[in-house]
Amino acid sequence: MKLLNMKILANDGIAPIGKQQLEAAGYTVITETVAQNELINAINNENYVALLVRSATTVRKDLIDACPNLKLIGRGGVGMDNIDVAYAKEKGLHVINTPASSSLSVAELVMAHLFGAVRFLDDANRQMPQKGNTEFNLLKKKYAKGIELRGKTLGIIGFGRIGQATASYALGCGMNVIYADPFAEKTTVNVKVGNQNVAINLTSSSKDEVLKNADFISLHVPKLEKPAIGNDEFSKMKNGVIIVNAARGGVINEEALIANLNSGKVAHACLDVFVNEPTPGEDILKHSKISLTPHIGAATLEAQDRIGEELASQIKELLG
Ligand code: NAD
Repeated sequence: MKLLNMKILANDGIAPIGKQQLEAAGYTVITETVAQNELINAINNENYVALLVRSATTVRKDLIDACPNLKLIGRGGVGMDNIDVAYAKEKGLHVINTPASSSLSVAELVMAHLFGAVRFLDDANRQMPQKGNTEFNLLKKKYAKGIELRGKTLGIIGFGRIGQATASYALGCGMNVIYADPFAEKTTVNVKVGNQNVAINLTSSSKDEVLKNADFISLHVPKLEKPAIGNDEFSKMKNGVIIVNAARGGVINEEALIANLNSGKVAHACLDVFVNEPTPGEDILKHSKISLTPHIGAATLEAQDRIGEELASQIKELLG
């Protein structure tokens, strides 16, 4: 039988739609953030049965051991590096996430970075407020060598949910797409054109082929033990390649990236994720050939709504 008024702490927030759906099912949902060092006391004193987090709150063994009434840990989003998942499961807790909810939003951010990079939008936006009314014509000349995405080749490394969603947008823009993923040999990508869906069949290439043939490279692998891209990989790329990382900080070796931007091998990098978040290195933040966003791939209203709804429906199914 369902216990009414079970309490849930959404410590990093939850979209209103998810909160409403949980409340309609009889849960009380608290969205005020409790500081990490006060979390154990809050969970025990308030008798929370579920703790929902995004990436800010961490859920480690000590918390799991100290909160025996906790039944569920939920991550709004994909990566669960901030949760001791295996340990929680061993202790009988449900551990859930919402892997599919944000794929389209991350893919759109990748496209935004690419469109921006080929027309120098990030640099133009830095320079125009300073020099727009004194050196307009110089700036116009500086940014006169933009290129189009249409007809160019996007190489995607890691062809899961987000890699495929990115491919769908890129194909829809008239780009060629090649990809490397040892676990996805053949893939059908659905491209939405107006109100029609066009199915495009693609076959995996080797990583070296992708590095060699792509004009743009976008990374969509999980966090790996060693960087997917370092000096060796950069040396195999086309001169003037543009690279995007909206996967996880450390998937590109940042020192190697800076060296290859400085040498001109890489024309531009677009980063949404960083080593040492939330304090990325100054050399990355200040580099004139890097466009930057502060890990906002999933941060759209639509994705947050889908995350909230997906969490609510899983909680109702698991806890009643
Ligand atoms: P996914 O599990 O659906 O896809 C990952 C793919 O990478 C899989 O197909 C897997 O086979 C492949 N892969 C694994 N190791 C590989 C390797 N060595 N070489 C090539 N391919 C490899 O995951 P997803 O939902 O597409 O997420 C991809 C990445 O995006 C993750 O790192 C995730 O944390 C990140 N992400 C970022 C944001 C953001 O805000 N920027 C939001 C959501 C997810």
